Amino acid sequence: MSNGQHLIVLSGPAGSGKDTVVRELIEKHPEIEVSVSVTTRDKRPGEREGVNYYYISTEEFERRIAAGEVLEYTHYCGNYYGTPKSEVDRRIASGIDVVLIIEVEGAANIKRLYPDAKLVFVRPPSFEELEKRLRGRRTESEEKIRERLARALEEMEYACDYDYVIINDKVEQCAEELYQIVRGAAQF
Ligand code: 5GP
Repeated sequence: MSNGQHLIVLSGPAGSGKDTVVRELIEKHPEIEVSVSVTTRDKRPGEREGVNYYYISTEEFERRIAAGEVLEYTHYCGNYYGTPKSEVDRRIASGIDVVLIIEVEGAANIKRLYPDAKLVFVRPPSFEELEKRLRGRRTESEEKIRERLARALEEMEYACDYDYVIINDKVEQCAEELYQIVRGAAQF
């Protein structure tokens, strides 16, 4: 990466609201782009192919790993998730700021590949709020919710490895803080 363009990695437990924060960011600053991952998990109601994810089979995912088409990937709650190389490379080549919304293992792998990447962790205001948000989705079984809550607690411990930690109490304010980080002007 040359100066002036940025690779931003955003992590946070399910229910931290990180996707909403990024949506708010790109609505206000459409010059910033978001990498769309590939996943083997089922599409949730309201999600769109090529917008939230590219939904592919396990066989196809494994083929892409073998072909070297995936920059980093992880296995999360029973499914594969990965960043296609093409999502990042073409933007870096054209000087576009790109945000990756990925979990903690993937973030660490990206930092190894791109030491200049900025790692940002989004925290919910409290664990109670996180549980409320996860349950409010009403798209997952109790078992899945519990699995995600347990994983969320584990993930929260990684916050200290990040360059920045922002708290998503109010989405607009959180998106503005993220913007300051993308621009390299943040002082937290
Ligand atoms: P969800 O199923 O809630 O959409 O995503 C589950 C977790 O996988 C989230 O923490 C999300 O950020 C993460 N994730 C999504 N795409 C990728 C990816 O390409 N790589 C990695 N490492 N994690 C991802």
